[in-house]
Amino acid sequence: MPLDVSQLPLVGGHPVLDLVNTLERGGGSPHDFLSDSSALLRWSVRVGVLSDVEADQVDRAWCDEPAAAQAGLAAVRDIREGLHLVLLATITDADGATAGDPVAAGAALVALHQRWSGAAARARFVLDSSRVLLTYGTVPTMLVPDRIAGAALDVMLTADLTRVRRCPVREGGCGWLFLDQSRSGSRRWCRMADCGNVVKARRLTERRRAARTARS
Ligand SMILES: [Zn+2]
Repeated sequence: MPLDVSQLPLVGGHPVLDLVNTLERGGGSPHDFLSDSSALLRWSVRVGVLSDVEADQVDRAWCDEPAAAQAGLAAVRDIREGLHLVLLATITDADGATAGDPVAAGAALVALHQRWSGAAARARFVLDSSRVLLTYGTVPTMLVPDRIAGAALDVMLTADLTRVRRCPVREGGCGWLFLDQSRSGSRRWCRMADCGNVVKARRLTERRRAARTARS
């Protein structure tokens, strides 16, 4: 049975990469951890996109307006898909080829810009003693997608995208994306405790089996 969104490991190093990892793309049928608007709310609080108080506000607004809840979830899934395409295009695999499709990434950037423009139109400038902050999410029904659109912009403009990695599928990894924040920049697995060790154990078994076959 797939994990619930509250148990989903957070390995991305940024909420926006964790968002991309809420859709299990491997295998035959993809599994979406953001299965409905309440799963989206729980995930948003867990990764710090929303406070508990804000989640209550959004929950009330979405209960009053179920269509807005659907629209909010659809907007988040749309941002997630766009981010996935853009981030994949920043990854260079071991053989030097890009993991993504630059044309699809370009189209995704247009769509992401539209999402962010809507979020920016609903945002406010807030004076915070010595500086002015851009605060996304003044409309409760759109608070979640607007915050996520703001976070997406933040990662695209300020993160070092040469540090985006994909847990290596070809070598038995899970395909999740993460920002490599290690000093050496040589992190390969999303979680050594899971993917890295599973693959190493499998290789050891294969080597032992090959050795047995060679002996017999
Ligand atoms: Zn992995």
